[in-house]
Amino acid sequence: MPTHCANQSRFASGPEVGADAGLGELCVLMKLGEIVLKGSNRKLFERRLHNNIRASVRDLGDIRLSQRGAGVIIVRKPGASDLEVAEIADRMANVMGVVWVHLVRRVPKELDAVTDVGVRVMEGREGTFAVRARRRDKRFEMTSSELAGYLGSKVIEAHGYKVNLKRPDNTLYVEVDKDEAFVFTDGVPGQGGLPAGMSGRGLVLMSGGIDSPVAAHRMIRRGLKVDFLHFSGMPFTGPESIYKAYSLVRQLDRYQVGSRLFVVPFGKAQQQLKSSGIERLQIVAQRRLMLKTAEALADDLGAECLITGDALGQVSSQTMTNLTALDDAVDLPILRPLIGMDKTEIMDQARRIGTLAISELPDEDCCTMLTPRQVETAAKIPDLRQIERRLDAEELAEHLLTTAQVHKPSFLGEAAPKRVAPASASVATTA
Ligand code: ATP
Ligand code: MG
Repeated sequence: MPTHCANQSRFASGPEVGADAGLGELCVLMKLGEIVLKGSNRKLFERRLHNNIRASVRDLGDIRLSQRGAGVIIVRKPGASDLEVAEIADRMANVMGVVWVHLVRRVPKELDAVTDVGVRVMEGREGTFAVRARRRDKRFEMTSSELAGYLGSKVIEAHGYKVNLKRPDNTLYVEVDKDEAFVFTDGVPGQGGLPAGMSGRGLVLMSGGIDSPVAAHRMIRRGLKVDFLHFSGMPFTGPESIYKAYSLVRQLDRYQVGSRLFVVPFGKAQQQLKSSGIERLQIVAQRRLMLKTAEALADDLGAECLITGDALGQVSSQTMTNLTALDDAVDLPILRPLIGMDKTEIMDQARRIGTLAISELPDEDCCTMLTPRQVETAAKIPDLRQIERRLDAEELAEHLLTTAQVHKPSFLGEAAPKRVAPASASVATTA
């Protein structure tokens, strides 16, 4: 998993940026993970990944992308400043399916040029080093190990560092390609996982809390493209929870460009449940109604699963019995990627993906409104079904869906969202 915070530039302050221009064009090299294991499906994965990469830099002008062998992609922007290339690298570290991101120097495929740049990029390092060489063009005048040995001796000659092949403090990489060579040092871990959209579509039930954004990130990382559904307590609460959901989705949009957020005002439906006298079952009944509404929306959107941030036992509505009662409300599978995680683990993850600070902003959650004094921890499915028959919950869910507003919180900062499905949802220009 990535060890960085999603919003800080990990490249702009690195040694590559602002270095001697004579070192060669600065570009971005990405190493791919699981995608290379995909056998005959690989082309499909690559196509999806290339599209996702292009989408994440589509505001940055003339970007050139090329696949090098099975596991490497090069992204260049001819004529770009180092800072612009650093920005591209930052974005690549958020594209699902990318395991490592490096800022690299593109140099002529000649031993002298590679040696000169290799020695210079290793200037001013501390500790031990190793050289890793790789040839994608086997016609190069040396084998990979000969090249590594040769470059190693030149680095020792110039800087006097000690070699440590097993656990070096610094690594000099050289990759010889068909028309050029790439010289670089250590990079930054990417997200790993699979390209967003490769595994189909899902719909995330998104509160303003800590858990659901982390759940969304996990499933995007396994290749789902997700939409988001938020229930606000409106008209009985203020719009703060909507602002939070909006900001959270904009942050998550870095990992799957093109996110949609549907917002449903839920306050009146909650009141209706409450006045039916369900007392201790209020929370579970509310959650079932949310799921039914989500299922109706998923049907419109072509989503094949619902995703929640439930973790077993974290709150009283998340007992095993209650989770089973929630599953009973809908036919679609409910994915709960956080089910076995501790809160501290979830918070660490939220920090890394850049959602924790947003989730911690104060708001008035619709679920805390109307919370009964005692919450049922072992809800009985027949009781819940009976309540729902009385209230005609299916129709209520369909009605709630017609009140949905859709937003497109883009990390690229576009305004005015386009009108998108479902036909029943009205469009709001801002949250
Ligand atoms: P979170 O931190 O994600 O809010 P939580 O620990 O507060 O989770 P609950 O409030 O019980 O747990 O919610 C469990 C799950 O139900 C959430 O992770 C989310 O998927 C869904 N959920 C809860 N409230 C809402 C809401 N207002 N809108 C949409 N989904 C919600
Ligand atoms: Mg919550």
